[in-house]
Amino acid sequence: MIPLDQAQRFVLDLCSPLPPVELTLDVALGCVLSDTVVASEQVPPFANSSMDGYALRADDTSGAPVRLSVIGSIMAGHSLDLAIAPGQAARIMTGAPLPRGADAICMVEETETTPDGRSVVIGREVHPGDFVRPPGRDVDTGDVIAPAGTVLTPAHLGVLAAQGATGVEVHPRPRVGVLSTGDELFSGTGSLPPGKIRDTNRRTLLALLRREGWDGIDLGVVGDDESSLIELLSSAASKCDAIVTSGGVSVGDLDLVRVVLEKLSAGRMRWMQVAIRPAKPLAFGVLADSATPVFGLPGNPVSAMVSFELFVRPALRRLGGHRVLHRLLVSATADVDLRRQADGKLHLLRARVRVDDQGSWRVRTTVGQESHQLHAMAEANSLILLPDGMGAHAGQPVSVLLVDPDSVSSDTSVVLHAPRSRAELP
Ligand code: AMP
Ligand code: MG
Repeated sequence: MIPLDQAQRFVLDLCSPLPPVELTLDVALGCVLSDTVVASEQVPPFANSSMDGYALRADDTSGAPVRLSVIGSIMAGHSLDLAIAPGQAARIMTGAPLPRGADAICMVEETETTPDGRSVVIGREVHPGDFVRPPGRDVDTGDVIAPAGTVLTPAHLGVLAAQGATGVEVHPRPRVGVLSTGDELFSGTGSLPPGKIRDTNRRTLLALLRREGWDGIDLGVVGDDESSLIELLSSAASKCDAIVTSGGVSVGDLDLVRVVLEKLSAGRMRWMQVAIRPAKPLAFGVLADSATPVFGLPGNPVSAMVSFELFVRPALRRLGGHRVLHRLLVSATADVDLRRQADGKLHLLRARVRVDDQGSWRVRTTVGQESHQLHAMAEANSLILLPDGMGAHAGQPVSVLLVDPDSVSSDTSVVLHAPRSRAELP
Protein backbone atom coordinates (compact mmCIF):
# COMPACT_ATOMS: atom_id res chain seq x y z
CA MET A 1 0.00 0.00 0.00
CA ILE A 2 1.11 3.55 -0.64
CA PRO A 3 0.18 6.62 1.41
CA LEU A 4 -2.59 8.89 0.14
CA ASP A 5 -0.37 11.90 -0.50
CA GLN A 6 2.02 9.83 -2.60
CA ALA A 7 -0.84 8.53 -4.76
CA GLN A 8 -2.23 12.06 -5.12
CA ARG A 9 1.18 13.33 -6.19
CA PHE A 10 1.53 10.61 -8.82
CA VAL A 11 -1.82 11.63 -10.35
CA LEU A 12 -1.26 15.39 -10.17
CA ASP A 13 2.21 15.18 -11.68
CA LEU A 14 0.69 13.75 -14.86
CA CYS A 15 -1.95 16.51 -15.19
CA SER A 16 -1.30 20.06 -16.38
CA PRO A 17 -3.54 23.04 -17.18
CA LEU A 18 -5.43 22.92 -20.47
CA PRO A 19 -4.32 25.50 -23.07
CA PRO A 20 -6.19 28.82 -22.67
CA VAL A 21 -9.21 29.71 -24.78
CA GLU A 22 -11.34 32.84 -25.03
CA LEU A 23 -14.77 32.41 -23.47
CA THR A 24 -17.63 34.89 -23.52
CA LEU A 25 -18.43 36.35 -20.11
CA ASP A 26 -21.76 34.53 -19.90
CA VAL A 27 -20.01 31.15 -19.71
CA ALA A 28 -16.82 32.13 -17.87
CA LEU A 29 -18.06 31.93 -14.26
CA GLY A 30 -15.76 29.70 -12.20
CA CYS A 31 -13.07 29.50 -14.87
CA VAL A 32 -9.48 30.46 -14.12
CA LEU A 33 -7.77 33.43 -15.80
CA SER A 34 -4.77 32.39 -17.84
CA ASP A 35 -3.43 35.95 -18.03
CA THR A 36 -3.48 39.01 -15.84
CA VAL A 37 -6.22 41.42 -16.92
CA VAL A 38 -5.40 45.14 -16.85
CA ALA A 39 -8.01 47.91 -17.06
CA SER A 40 -8.17 49.97 -20.22
CA GLU A 41 -11.08 52.15 -19.14
CA GLN A 42 -11.83 54.23 -16.07
CA VAL A 43 -14.75 53.23 -13.88
CA PRO A 44 -16.66 55.39 -13.23
CA PRO A 45 -15.97 56.94 -16.64
CA PHE A 46 -16.84 60.49 -15.47
CA ALA A 47 -17.34 62.37 -12.21
CA ASN A 48 -20.88 61.75 -11.00
CA SER A 49 -23.13 62.13 -8.00
CA SER A 50 -23.48 59.40 -5.38
CA MET A 51 -26.67 60.99 -3.99
CA ASP A 52 -29.86 62.60 -5.09
CA GLY A 53 -29.34 66.27 -4.24
CA TYR A 54 -27.92 69.49 -5.56
CA ALA A 55 -24.67 70.02 -7.46
CA LEU A 56 -23.00 73.23 -6.33
CA ARG A 57 -19.77 75.03 -5.58
CA ALA A 58 -18.64 74.12 -2.05
CA ASP A 59 -17.33 77.68 -1.51
CA ASP A 60 -20.87 79.01 -1.88
CA THR A 61 -22.01 77.14 1.22
CA SER A 62 -19.76 78.79 3.78
CA GLY A 63 -21.87 80.36 6.47
CA ALA A 64 -24.79 78.00 5.62
CA PRO A 65 -27.74 78.07 5.53
CA VAL A 66 -27.42 79.79 2.16
CA ARG A 67 -29.83 80.24 -0.72
CA LEU A 68 -28.71 79.30 -4.26
CA SER A 69 -30.63 79.67 -7.51
CA VAL A 70 -31.56 76.44 -9.26
CA ILE A 71 -30.63 76.48 -12.94
CA GLY A 72 -31.71 73.00 -14.03
CA SER A 73 -32.01 69.33 -13.31
CA ILE A 74 -29.63 66.54 -14.35
CA MET A 75 -30.80 62.93 -14.65
CA ALA A 76 -28.61 59.82 -14.76
CA GLY A 77 -27.81 58.89 -18.34
CA HIS A 78 -28.24 62.42 -19.67
CA SER A 79 -25.36 64.69 -20.27
CA LEU A 80 -26.53 68.27 -20.03
CA ASP A 81 -24.25 71.06 -21.07
CA LEU A 82 -24.77 72.96 -17.85
CA ALA A 83 -22.24 75.11 -16.02
CA ILE A 84 -22.68 76.13 -12.41
CA ALA A 85 -21.67 79.72 -11.74
CA PRO A 86 -21.19 81.19 -8.24
CA GLY A 87 -24.50 81.38 -6.40
CA GLN A 88 -26.06 78.63 -8.53
CA ALA A 89 -26.97 74.96 -8.06
CA ALA A 90 -28.55 72.22 -10.18
CA ARG A 91 -30.82 69.41 -9.07
CA ILE A 92 -28.91 66.15 -9.65
CA MET A 93 -29.78 62.44 -9.41
CA THR A 94 -27.54 59.53 -8.31
CA GLY A 95 -25.23 58.55 -11.17
CA ALA A 96 -25.77 61.76 -13.15
CA PRO A 97 -22.65 63.58 -14.40
CA LEU A 98 -21.34 66.43 -12.28
CA PRO A 99 -21.89 69.67 -14.21
CA ARG A 100 -19.00 71.97 -15.04
CA GLY A 101 -18.23 74.48 -12.29
CA ALA A 102 -19.67 72.27 -9.53
CA ASP A 103 -17.30 70.51 -7.14
CA ALA A 104 -19.66 68.96 -4.57
CA ILE A 105 -23.14 67.62 -3.95
CA CYS A 106 -25.46 68.48 -1.11
CA MET A 107 -27.81 65.57 -0.39
CA VAL A 108 -31.47 66.39 -0.84
CA GLU A 109 -32.23 65.66 2.84
CA GLU A 110 -30.12 68.71 3.82
CA THR A 111 -31.91 71.10 1.48
CA GLU A 112 -35.22 72.86 1.16
CA THR A 113 -36.55 74.02 -2.16
CA THR A 114 -38.49 77.26 -2.31
CA PRO A 115 -42.17 76.91 -3.33
CA ASP A 116 -41.51 78.33 -6.80
CA GLY A 117 -38.73 75.78 -7.32
CA ARG A 118 -36.32 78.45 -8.48
CA SER A 119 -34.04 78.42 -5.47
CA VAL A 120 -32.84 76.05 -2.84
CA VAL A 121 -31.71 76.59 0.73
CA ILE A 122 -28.62 74.56 1.55
CA GLY A 123 -28.83 73.64 5.22
CA ARG A 124 -25.14 73.15 6.04
CA GLU A 125 -21.64 73.68 4.78
CA VAL A 126 -20.50 71.32 2.06
CA HIS A 127 -16.86 70.42 1.33
CA PRO A 128 -15.28 70.06 -2.10
CA GLY A 129 -15.71 66.45 -3.29
CA ASP A 130 -18.67 65.63 -1.02
CA PHE A 131 -20.79 62.89 -2.61
CA VAL A 132 -18.83 63.14 -5.86
CA ARG A 133 -17.54 59.88 -7.36
CA PRO A 134 -14.44 60.85 -9.33
CA PRO A 135 -13.57 59.05 -12.58
CA GLY A 136 -11.45 55.94 -11.97
CA ARG A 137 -12.29 55.75 -8.25
CA ASP A 138 -13.41 52.12 -8.65
CA VAL A 139 -10.99 51.03 -11.37
CA ASP A 140 -8.36 53.23 -13.01
CA THR A 141 -6.71 52.75 -16.39
CA GLY A 142 -3.74 50.41 -15.93
CA ASP A 143 -5.05 48.88 -12.69
CA VAL A 144 -4.71 45.11 -12.39
CA ILE A 145 -8.31 43.91 -12.44
CA ALA A 146 -7.35 40.34 -11.62
CA PRO A 147 -4.06 38.44 -11.78
CA ALA A 148 -3.54 35.22 -13.73
CA GLY A 149 -4.85 32.31 -11.68
CA THR A 150 -7.94 34.18 -10.45
CA VAL A 151 -11.10 32.09 -10.27
CA LEU A 152 -13.78 34.22 -11.88
CA THR A 153 -16.62 35.13 -9.51
CA PRO A 154 -19.81 37.03 -10.36
CA ALA A 155 -18.12 40.24 -9.14
CA HIS A 156 -15.12 39.70 -11.46
CA LEU A 157 -17.50 39.23 -14.40
CA GLY A 158 -19.17 42.51 -13.47
CA VAL A 159 -15.81 44.29 -13.28
CA LEU A 160 -14.92 42.90 -16.73
CA ALA A 161 -18.31 43.92 -18.11
CA ALA A 162 -17.71 47.44 -16.74
CA GLN A 163 -14.59 47.50 -18.95
CA GLY A 164 -16.69 46.70 -22.00
CA ALA A 165 -15.14 43.22 -22.23
CA THR A 166 -17.27 40.57 -23.90
CA GLY A 167 -14.79 37.70 -23.58
CA VAL A 168 -11.92 36.62 -21.38
CA GLU A 169 -8.90 34.29 -21.72
CA VAL A 170 -9.24 31.34 -19.38
CA HIS A 171 -8.31 27.72 -19.00
CA PRO A 172 -11.35 25.86 -20.31
CA ARG A 173 -13.52 23.64 -18.17
CA PRO A 174 -12.41 20.06 -18.66
CA ARG A 175 -14.75 17.84 -20.68
CA VAL A 176 -14.84 14.57 -18.83
CA GLY A 177 -16.08 11.21 -20.11
CA VAL A 178 -17.78 8.94 -17.58
CA LEU A 179 -17.98 5.21 -18.15
CA SER A 180 -19.37 2.42 -15.98
CA THR A 181 -17.91 -1.05 -16.38
CA GLY A 182 -19.14 -4.45 -15.29
CA ASP A 183 -21.18 -7.35 -16.68
CA GLU A 184 -23.58 -7.01 -13.76
CA LEU A 185 -24.75 -3.52 -14.73
CA PHE A 186 -28.24 -3.18 -16.12
CA SER A 187 -28.90 0.20 -17.67
CA GLY A 188 -32.41 -0.47 -18.93
CA THR A 189 -35.65 0.43 -17.19
CA GLY A 190 -38.11 -1.99 -15.65
CA SER A 191 -37.43 -4.94 -13.41
CA LEU A 192 -33.91 -6.21 -12.89
CA PRO A 193 -32.84 -9.44 -14.58
CA PRO A 194 -31.42 -12.01 -12.11
CA GLY A 195 -27.91 -11.21 -10.89
CA LYS A 196 -27.93 -7.73 -12.33
CA ILE A 197 -27.78 -4.41 -10.50
CA ARG A 198 -28.60 -0.90 -11.61
CA ASP A 199 -25.81 1.47 -12.60
CA THR A 200 -25.40 4.06 -9.86
CA ASN A 201 -21.93 5.42 -10.48
CA ARG A 202 -22.49 7.03 -13.84
CA ARG A 203 -25.32 9.15 -12.45
CA THR A 204 -23.30 10.14 -9.38
CA LEU A 205 -20.06 10.89 -11.19
CA LEU A 206 -21.77 12.96 -13.89
CA ALA A 207 -23.53 14.92 -11.15
CA LEU A 208 -20.27 15.46 -9.25
CA LEU A 209 -18.80 16.92 -12.41
CA ARG A 210 -21.80 19.12 -13.02
CA ARG A 211 -21.66 20.45 -9.46
CA GLU A 212 -18.14 21.70 -10.21
CA GLY A 213 -19.32 23.33 -13.42
CA TRP A 214 -17.53 20.83 -15.63
CA ASP A 215 -18.95 19.22 -18.74
CA GLY A 216 -19.60 15.52 -18.24
CA ILE A 217 -19.85 13.29 -21.29
CA ASP A 218 -21.89 10.15 -20.75
CA LEU A 219 -19.95 7.24 -22.23
CA GLY A 220 -22.50 4.67 -21.13
CA VAL A 221 -21.92 1.20 -19.78
CA VAL A 222 -19.54 -1.45 -21.03
CA GLY A 223 -19.32 -5.07 -19.94
CA ASP A 224 -16.23 -6.84 -18.67
CA ASP A 225 -14.82 -7.29 -22.14
CA GLU A 226 -11.33 -6.24 -23.04
CA SER A 227 -11.81 -5.36 -26.69
CA SER A 228 -14.96 -3.26 -26.14
CA LEU A 229 -13.19 -1.42 -23.35
CA ILE A 230 -10.17 -0.70 -25.55
CA GLU A 231 -12.39 0.51 -28.37
CA LEU A 232 -14.49 2.73 -26.12
CA LEU A 233 -11.56 4.37 -24.34
CA SER A 234 -9.67 4.96 -27.59
CA SER A 235 -12.62 6.58 -29.35
CA ALA A 236 -13.65 8.66 -26.31
CA ALA A 237 -10.18 10.15 -25.96
CA SER A 238 -10.66 12.53 -28.90
CA LYS A 239 -13.67 14.27 -27.33
CA CYS A 240 -12.58 14.23 -23.68
CA ASP A 241 -9.92 16.03 -21.67
CA ALA A 242 -10.10 13.23 -19.11
CA ILE A 243 -11.96 9.96 -18.65
CA VAL A 244 -13.37 8.53 -15.43
CA THR A 245 -14.34 4.86 -15.29
CA SER A 246 -15.70 2.88 -12.38
CA GLY A 247 -15.35 -0.82 -11.65
CA GLY A 248 -12.77 -3.33 -12.75
CA VAL A 249 -9.74 -2.15 -10.80
CA SER A 250 -9.72 -4.70 -8.01
CA VAL A 251 -8.09 -8.12 -8.00
CA GLY A 252 -11.10 -10.04 -9.34
CA ASP A 253 -10.93 -12.28 -12.40
CA LEU A 254 -12.63 -9.76 -14.66
CA ASP A 255 -11.02 -6.56 -13.40
CA LEU A 256 -10.03 -5.42 -16.83
CA VAL A 257 -9.80 -1.63 -16.59
CA ARG A 258 -6.40 -1.98 -15.03
CA VAL A 259 -5.30 -4.44 -17.74
CA VAL A 260 -6.61 -2.25 -20.57
CA LEU A 261 -5.03 0.90 -19.11
CA GLU A 262 -1.71 -0.91 -18.96
CA LYS A 263 -1.99 -1.61 -22.68
CA LEU A 264 -3.19 1.86 -23.74
CA SER A 265 -0.90 3.99 -21.64
CA ALA A 266 2.46 2.71 -22.80
CA GLY A 267 3.89 2.62 -19.31
CA ARG A 268 2.47 5.93 -18.09
CA MET A 269 0.07 4.31 -15.66
CA ARG A 270 0.03 2.92 -12.20
CA TRP A 271 -2.24 0.55 -10.42
CA MET A 272 -2.17 1.57 -6.81
CA GLN A 273 -3.28 0.14 -3.51
CA VAL A 274 -3.74 3.36 -1.57
CA ALA A 275 -3.63 3.14 2.22
CA ILE A 276 -7.18 4.43 2.64
CA ARG A 277 -10.59 2.96 3.35
CA PRO A 278 -12.80 3.07 1.36
CA ALA A 279 -11.36 3.46 -2.17
CA LYS A 280 -8.17 1.45 -1.81
CA PRO A 281 -7.60 0.45 -5.45
CA LEU A 282 -6.98 3.10 -8.07
CA ALA A 283 -5.74 2.73 -11.63
CA PHE A 284 -4.48 5.93 -13.16
CA GLY A 285 -2.76 6.42 -16.45
CA VAL A 286 -2.31 8.70 -19.43
CA LEU A 287 -3.32 7.32 -22.83
CA ALA A 288 -0.31 6.96 -25.11
CA ASP A 289 -1.91 8.47 -28.25
CA SER A 290 -3.79 11.42 -26.83
CA ALA A 291 -2.21 12.06 -23.41
CA THR A 292 -5.74 11.92 -21.97
CA PRO A 293 -5.68 11.13 -18.24
CA VAL A 294 -7.84 8.12 -17.33
CA PHE A 295 -9.01 7.43 -13.79
CA GLY A 296 -10.00 3.85 -13.03
CA LEU A 297 -12.10 4.21 -9.89
CA PRO A 298 -13.31 1.29 -7.80
CA GLY A 299 -16.84 0.09 -8.47
CA ASN A 300 -18.43 0.31 -5.06
CA PRO A 301 -20.49 3.51 -5.16
CA VAL A 302 -19.06 5.09 -1.99
CA SER A 303 -15.52 4.16 -3.02
CA ALA A 304 -16.07 5.74 -6.43
CA MET A 305 -17.26 8.98 -4.84
CA VAL A 306 -14.47 9.11 -2.27
CA SER A 307 -11.91 8.38 -4.98
CA PHE A 308 -13.42 11.17 -7.06
CA GLU A 309 -12.98 13.60 -4.17
CA LEU A 310 -9.42 12.58 -3.39
CA PHE A 311 -7.98 12.07 -6.87
CA VAL A 312 -10.26 13.12 -9.73
CA ARG A 313 -11.48 16.47 -8.48
CA PRO A 314 -8.01 17.84 -7.60
CA ALA A 315 -6.64 16.60 -10.94
CA LEU A 316 -9.49 18.12 -12.94
CA ARG A 317 -9.03 21.36 -11.06
CA ARG A 318 -5.41 21.33 -12.15
CA LEU A 319 -6.54 20.80 -15.79
CA GLY A 320 -8.85 23.79 -15.34
CA GLY A 321 -5.93 25.94 -14.17
CA HIS A 322 -6.90 26.08 -10.50
CA ARG A 323 -4.15 26.58 -7.96
CA VAL A 324 -6.18 25.54 -4.94
CA LEU A 325 -6.78 21.86 -5.66
CA HIS A 326 -8.13 20.31 -2.49
CA ARG A 327 -11.28 20.67 -0.44
CA LEU A 328 -11.35 22.65 2.76
CA LEU A 329 -10.21 20.65 5.79
CA VAL A 330 -11.58 21.81 9.14
CA SER A 331 -11.17 20.63 12.69
CA ALA A 332 -14.44 19.58 14.32
CA THR A 333 -15.41 18.08 17.66
CA ALA A 334 -16.69 14.52 17.38
CA ASP A 335 -20.23 14.20 18.77
CA VAL A 336 -19.91 10.40 18.97
CA ASP A 337 -17.19 7.80 19.61
CA LEU A 338 -15.35 6.93 16.38
CA ARG A 339 -14.07 3.40 16.91
CA ARG A 340 -11.78 1.63 14.47
CA GLN A 341 -9.05 -0.98 14.36
CA ALA A 342 -5.45 -0.36 13.31
CA ASP A 343 -5.02 -1.60 9.71
CA GLY A 344 -2.38 0.69 8.24
CA LYS A 345 -5.02 2.81 6.49
CA LEU A 346 -6.50 6.26 6.79
CA HIS A 347 -10.25 5.85 7.24
CA LEU A 348 -12.65 8.28 5.61
CA LEU A 349 -15.95 8.18 7.45
CA ARG A 350 -19.13 9.51 5.92
CA ALA A 351 -20.25 12.28 8.23
CA ARG A 352 -22.42 15.29 8.74
CA VAL A 353 -20.74 18.43 10.00
CA ARG A 354 -22.49 21.51 11.34
CA VAL A 355 -21.67 24.72 13.13
CA ASP A 356 -23.36 24.86 16.56
CA ASP A 357 -24.86 27.86 18.34
CA GLN A 358 -21.44 28.71 19.80
CA GLY A 359 -19.94 28.88 16.32
CA SER A 360 -18.00 25.59 16.82
CA TRP A 361 -17.70 22.84 14.21
CA ARG A 362 -19.28 19.54 15.31
CA VAL A 363 -19.41 16.28 13.43
CA ARG A 364 -21.13 12.90 13.61
CA THR A 365 -21.01 9.88 11.34
CA THR A 366 -24.00 8.90 9.21
CA VAL A 367 -25.41 5.39 9.55
CA GLY A 368 -23.85 2.74 7.28
CA GLN A 369 -20.09 2.91 6.79
CA GLU A 370 -19.54 0.15 4.23
CA SER A 371 -18.44 1.06 0.75
CA HIS A 372 -21.66 -0.10 -0.92
CA GLN A 373 -23.86 1.94 1.44
CA LEU A 374 -24.39 4.97 -0.73
CA HIS A 375 -27.36 6.11 1.31
CA ALA A 376 -25.01 7.09 4.16
CA MET A 377 -23.05 9.15 1.65
CA ALA A 378 -26.23 10.85 0.53
CA GLU A 379 -26.80 11.98 4.11
CA ALA A 380 -23.21 13.12 4.56
CA ASN A 381 -21.69 16.47 3.73
CA SER A 382 -18.16 15.62 4.79
CA LEU A 383 -15.59 12.91 5.39
CA ILE A 384 -13.90 12.46 8.76
CA LEU A 385 -10.23 11.66 8.24
CA LEU A 386 -9.50 9.11 10.97
CA PRO A 387 -5.80 8.20 11.01
CA ASP A 388 -4.57 4.67 11.56
CA GLY A 389 -5.06 3.57 15.17
CA MET A 390 -7.97 2.90 17.48
CA GLY A 391 -10.08 5.92 16.59
CA ALA A 392 -11.28 8.90 18.60
CA HIS A 393 -13.65 9.50 21.49
CA ALA A 394 -16.64 11.79 21.56
CA GLY A 395 -15.46 15.28 22.47
CA GLN A 396 -12.10 14.93 20.72
CA PRO A 397 -11.16 17.04 17.71
CA VAL A 398 -10.99 15.31 14.32
CA SER A 399 -10.09 16.49 10.80
CA VAL A 400 -13.05 16.80 8.46
CA LEU A 401 -12.99 17.25 4.70
CA LEU A 402 -15.94 19.34 3.53
CA VAL A 403 -17.18 17.60 0.40
CA ASP A 404 -20.41 19.56 0.26
CA PRO A 405 -19.59 22.88 1.92
CA ASP A 406 -22.83 24.53 0.77
CA SER A 407 -24.85 22.15 2.90
CA VAL A 408 -23.09 22.96 6.17
CA SER A 409 -25.77 24.54 8.30
CA SER A 410 -25.11 27.00 11.03
CA ASP A 411 -27.18 27.47 14.18
CA THR A 412 -25.43 30.75 14.87
CA SER A 413 -27.69 33.74 14.80
CA VAL A 414 -25.80 36.94 14.33
CA VAL A 415 -27.30 40.04 15.87
CA LEU A 416 -25.69 43.12 14.47
CA HIS A 417 -25.55 46.15 16.68
CA ALA A 418 -24.76 48.61 13.96
CA PRO A 419 -24.48 52.25 14.97
CA ARG A 420 -27.64 54.12 14.24
CA SER A 421 -27.50 56.76 11.58
CA ARG A 422 -27.67 60.45 12.41
CA ALA A 423 -31.10 60.62 10.85
CA GLU A 424 -32.42 57.92 13.22
CA LEU A 425 -31.24 59.71 16.38
CA PRO A 426 -33.93 61.58 18.33
P1 AMP B 1 -15.48 -3.87 -9.02
O1 AMP B 1 -14.68 -2.67 -8.67
O2 AMP B 1 -15.78 -4.01 -10.47
O3 AMP B 1 -14.92 -5.11 -8.41
O4 AMP B 1 -16.89 -3.65 -8.32
C1 AMP B 1 -17.01 -3.58 -6.92
C2 AMP B 1 -18.46 -3.54 -6.51
O5 AMP B 1 -19.09 -2.39 -7.03
C3 AMP B 1 -19.28 -4.72 -7.04
O6 AMP B 1 -20.21 -5.09 -6.06
C4 AMP B 1 -19.98 -4.13 -8.25
O7 AMP B 1 -21.16 -4.80 -8.57
C5 AMP B 1 -20.23 -2.73 -7.78
N1 AMP B 1 -20.34 -1.80 -8.92
C6 AMP B 1 -19.47 -1.70 -9.94
N2 AMP B 1 -19.85 -0.73 -10.79
C7 AMP B 1 -21.01 -0.23 -10.31
C8 AMP B 1 -21.90 0.77 -10.75
N3 AMP B 1 -21.67 1.45 -11.87
N4 AMP B 1 -22.99 1.03 -10.00
C9 AMP B 1 -23.23 0.33 -8.86
N5 AMP B 1 -22.42 -0.61 -8.40
C10 AMP B 1 -21.32 -0.91 -9.10
MG1 MG C 1 -16.45 -5.44 -11.78
